[in-house]
Amino acid sequence: MSAVPASAAPSADNPLLEPSRLPLQLPPFAEITLEHCREAMLAGMAEQRAEVAAIVGSSEPPTFDDTVVALERSGRLYRRAGAVFHNLASSVATDRLREIERELAPLESAHADALRLDPALFARIDAVHAQRHAVGLDAEAVRLVERYHLDFVLAGARLDEAGRARLTELNRELSELSTTFGQNLQLATEAAAVVVTDAAELDGLSPEEVAAAARAATDRGVDGFLIPLLLPTGQPVLAKLRDRELRRRVFEASVGRASGGAHDNGPVAVRIARVRAERARLLGFDTHADLVLADQTAGSTEAVDAMLARMVGPSLANAQAEAAALGEVAARDGVAELAPWDWAFYSERVRAERYSVDSTALRPWFELDRVLVDGVFAAAERLYGYRFTPRPDLAGYHPDVRVWEVTDADGQTIGLYLGDFYAREGKRGGAWMSSFVTQSRLLDTRPVVVNNLNVTRGADGQPTLLTLDEVNTLFHEFGHTLHGLSSAVTYPRFAGTSVPRDFVEFPSQVNEMWALWPEVLAGYARHVETGEPLPASVVEAIEAAQLWGEGFATLEYLAATLLDQAWHRITPETEVGDPQEFERAALEAAGVAYDLVPPRYRTTYFQHVFAGGYAAGYYSYIWSEVLDADTVEWFKENGGLRRENGDVFRSRLLSVGGSVDPLEAFRAVRGRDADPMPLLRRRGLLSA
Ligand SMILES: [Zn+2]
Repeated sequence: MSAVPASAAPSADNPLLEPSRLPLQLPPFAEITLEHCREAMLAGMAEQRAEVAAIVGSSEPPTFDDTVVALERSGRLYRRAGAVFHNLASSVATDRLREIERELAPLESAHADALRLDPALFARIDAVHAQRHAVGLDAEAVRLVERYHLDFVLAGARLDEAGRARLTELNRELSELSTTFGQNLQLATEAAAVVVTDAAELDGLSPEEVAAAARAATDRGVDGFLIPLLLPTGQPVLAKLRDRELRRRVFEASVGRASGGAHDNGPVAVRIARVRAERARLLGFDTHADLVLADQTAGSTEAVDAMLARMVGPSLANAQAEAAALGEVAARDGVAELAPWDWAFYSERVRAERYSVDSTALRPWFELDRVLVDGVFAAAERLYGYRFTPRPDLAGYHPDVRVWEVTDADGQTIGLYLGDFYAREGKRGGAWMSSFVTQSRLLDTRPVVVNNLNVTRGADGQPTLLTLDEVNTLFHEFGHTLHGLSSAVTYPRFAGTSVPRDFVEFPSQVNEMWALWPEVLAGYARHVETGEPLPASVVEAIEAAQLWGEGFATLEYLAATLLDQAWHRITPETEVGDPQEFERAALEAAGVAYDLVPPRYRTTYFQHVFAGGYAAGYYSYIWSEVLDADTVEWFKENGGLRRENGDVFRSRLLSVGGSVDPLEAFRAVRGRDADPMPLLRRRGLLSA
């Protein structure tokens, strides 16, 4: 079933047609245009269809090599071009790119379906699956067969012809809806940026932040100042703005995003949830959540519910206790009743008063390059022996992007690392790691990975200073990078971060532990002007202050998680009605409805679940945090920042990627199953 036009022949000078000749196959960005990406992806899909036709058309009986390995080898052009295009779509989107994205998204989805719904291909995989233990395959190969088999079953390979046709239709619609959701959100978020005409209203922001707001206004062609919105509900400026009315405007712009007008995502979300429910039914599951969890380490909705239920009560109680403390401080300012737009502002005040930590005042100690080189890189060297050498001769896809070559303790080059840290128009919100090339022995490739952040660049000639949150984010995203760089698997299907969603955040969360580790912190937290280290008293205060705000943080996260579950536990018969009303009722029912603490994402801007890969999977962060907190204790029990510890974690867990059962890899490090107590303790949820 071909949905790709025949006119897909690429021009001969298309640099994506051959593997890049740059080191480690870094794409030659300077030569690649969007039109090259488009043609190469179309040609790549056609090429992969031909490769699969050859596999299926073989008259030989199916074997592991001629079926499963052949599939792993197929689609190299498509993968190469797609990696470039999808990274550009996240980091440097333009109108033309969005147009191509809208054109290609349904074709890509149809392509994936055509592969996974090919009955002849499934018959061969099924046959290899049946004999997988009898033909002398090694453990990674057996697992590869099993994963392919499960992929195909979950994708509908066992459906009859009418079922397959219906499934393709639903997938095509979902793909279009997700693209619409993401594009609506980006445009609605840009449109919802808050315009301020009077500089006096910006009282509380630093001179650099005021200058950045003025620049943002100029870039947009408006007078005055512009406060752009970031992806989650909470906006960093809310912690600083003294003008309560402006706080209200920023908050309302944030929570009202994409919930009306030209870019209304409400109906889009309803339709996405409904189509997913119908698809789950077709595949034999009660709900989309059941379908998703069948393929995760959690395994079932019951397991997820049990874990979440354990946290709801204590989180709400902690958030209410925090609200009482905030109310007292706010009352001194004459605020009669605390509003949600006051939370961050007074939370910061309480933090400063109780713990003497003013997190905005810490920024001069967190200069981006020092944090990266003397903090993040240095910790990776101490733990894993990795070294990072700048390669200014290698260009990224935008002038902001910098490239490093990564070598291991033996001096062998193991990968390239790209850093793209600054916020700009056309880049999606948030922070993430992704790959241009993944590691595999089969294809003889080494990883080329990128970290994106959305840090506000220092004013002209000034250094870029991070908040403590941004420092943590950098360590977190670099944890994903370490997962990608450490990969040592045979099959590309298992490379690096190709693990279940509720496991993938675990290594990155563990890497956050080094941000405040004394030896690491001493290396990077130096005052940008004086070079003075961050005083020990401040570090102690930061640590003491870490429990402050955990009630809020856990509750806003749980609210988003339970909202995600609610949307994905509907059946095709569920009367959803008004999406805002559905959201309110879902939060009520889950016991997390609390006006002062809205969900971290509301339905209309919940990109993770409606336009990302986290549908029914937003719970993953806390699921993997259980593993994380337990592993942090393991590092501490064994002396912390030592090569011996890093080697165990790298060789038994990071390097194996998805090639072994994730919880088995965890046990290989920890020596037992995960214990949830360290997490509950860390979040202060035991005392509530
Ligand atoms: Zn992450």
